[in-house]
Amino acid sequence: MKDILVIGGGFAGVWSAAGAVRAAREAGGEVRVTLVSGGDDMVVRPRLYEEDPESMRVSLDRVLGPIGVRRVAATVSEIDTEAHTVRAVGRTGEELDLAYDKLVLAAGSRLVRPSFPGAQDVFDIDTLPAAAAFDHHLRRLPQRVSSPGRYTAVVVGAGFTGLEIATALCERLRAIADAQGAGEEVRVVMVDRADVIGPELGPGPRPHIDGTLDELKIERRLGRTVASATSEDVTLSDGEVIPAATIVWTAGMVASPLTAQIPGERDRLGRLSVDAYLRVTGVPDVYAAGDTAVAAAEEGHDTTQSCQHALPMGKFAGHNVVADLLGTDPLPFTPDPYSTCLDLGPAGALVTQGWDRTVQMTGEDAKALKRDINVLWIYPPVDDPEQLLAQAGRFSNL
Ligand SMILES: Cc1cc2nc3c(=O)[nH]c(=O)nc-3n(C[C@H](O)[C@H](O)[C@H](O)COP(=O)(O)OP(=O)(O)OC[C@H]3O[C@@H](n4cnc5c(N)ncnc54)[C@H](O)[C@@H]3O)c2cc1C
Repeated sequence: MKDILVIGGGFAGVWSAAGAVRAAREAGGEVRVTLVSGGDDMVVRPRLYEEDPESMRVSLDRVLGPIGVRRVAATVSEIDTEAHTVRAVGRTGEELDLAYDKLVLAAGSRLVRPSFPGAQDVFDIDTLPAAAAFDHHLRRLPQRVSSPGRYTAVVVGAGFTGLEIATALCERLRAIADAQGAGEEVRVVMVDRADVIGPELGPGPRPHIDGTLDELKIERRLGRTVASATSEDVTLSDGEVIPAATIVWTAGMVASPLTAQIPGERDRLGRLSVDAYLRVTGVPDVYAAGDTAVAAAEEGHDTTQSCQHALPMGKFAGHNVVADLLGTDPLPFTPDPYSTCLDLGPAGALVTQGWDRTVQMTGEDAKALKRDINVLWIYPPVDDPEQLLAQAGRFSNL
């Protein structure tokens, strides 16, 4: 029996595995699908800016077990595309060698941590342990000695993640400070090296975002970055010192370092170039999906590092590895029309359409949509093989 190996248990990996099982069943053929991932859960990364981040996960065994996907709990260290083998390190340190006929790399992305003096005191919300440590820190703020920056948070990076955590902090920090009668001390400051908020969002939604930040009294320090930090304050590149017990770093995502082990072309984020069938260009039997890959989206744009693209890329990659093995028809990747939904905390949310990000919905209506996306749409069904496989065959998120 032919072996399909999926590296990564995130959105792209889970849907690659489910997509492969579905396509094999549809073709009446047999393949063995193995998913290797460091953790036991699929982490719902887009929700890590919310409260209780430790609950933002789904058991991989409850999703993939019922459809017969073998799961290996190990961290991949080497990929040999000539030999068609992958080396991984298991939980107890044992080395495992896994062979494949077709490989799907879906190992995601990671935040580039800063390196300025004091950077070790900076929080991030990129992974579940990091978001949990941040949540724990916030909850312990009332136990700190009263100081000018006790309830001040500096958020570095004014992109999607920075905006979501900054606006969420207006509520999260206030709830914590209010319980101590210190609600008025809450201060949230955003810092970005660009001269505008949401540099990658473009000018379309900016007036609404700027208006929201004004409404929420979120301060901005633009055209600047952080020079150093301590557990008590942050010094910016122009010398301003902001007393702050909390700094959150959100700037700079790159593809998994495993992409460097595949001899393909990469973009500035380290993502592997893939063709319309999500095959890594020039590397036989290797596919890539989600944040590790850059594919052509519509209107001459590239895919973004987002769930919106990772989910369907996984489904298409899973379908296409099986088509490749069983000789059935592959499907060219066709994403839904581009849209975004940005949470703005107590000010609702913002929905945009198209690559120029035309504002389509704001306020409570947009917030209701964001809630549906976060609590329903991005979760794979658990303990329900039929529903999972039916969903794996729906290539559109709409
Ligand atoms: C705070 C935050 C908010 C976000 N908000 C949004 C949003 O609103 N909308 C949106 O569309 N996107 C959002 N994103 C981005 C989104 O989460 C990612 O684009 C998405 O998770 C990518 O899916 P993926 O499967 O490619 O990678 P990931 O979800 O990162 O999954 C990668 C998987 O690979 C595994 N892995 C990594 N390295 C190895 C290894 N060496 N060996 C074995 N396994 C490995 C990991 O454990 C993980 O299971 C947000 C991200 C963050 C951090």
